[in-house]
Amino acid sequence: MSLNPARVAREFPSRYRLEAAKCAGCGHVAFPARLVCPACRGTKHTAVTLDPAGKVLTFTVIHVPPAEFKGQAPYVLAVVELADGVRVTCQVADVDPAAVKTGMPVSLEFRRIQEDGEAGVIAYGHKAVPA
Ligand SMILES: [Zn+2]
Repeated sequence: MSLNPARVAREFPSRYRLEAAKCAGCGHVAFPARLVCPACRGTKHTAVTLDPAGKVLTFTVIHVPPAEFKGQAPYVLAVVELADGVRVTCQVADVDPAAVKTGMPVSLEFRRIQEDGEAGVIAYGHKAVPA
């Protein structure tokens, strides 16, 4: 029996699926979803799936990474702002670090983030790629 990718995706926490909470009171979009709106303290929300398109708000190039990202340096760590105003901190992949610029259009993709060779554990999350 093979692994069903759609089923695997459903079983990941909602933040990996870009599921956010939109406040019924003020329209603030919280990601990851929260029980209480950080803007108006409202508690009524609707679930929304964020558009993965965004732009690089600010970024830095990591030359000396923490142990779990060893072998990936240099890489770009950016704050990406999505259309809903939500900001996500993530790596920018598939690009020469020297080519990354503030305001660059990107799209979030679900990628492998790190792999623990000894334990065989693979962590997944979002990375931004040039749009
Ligand atoms: Zn609110």
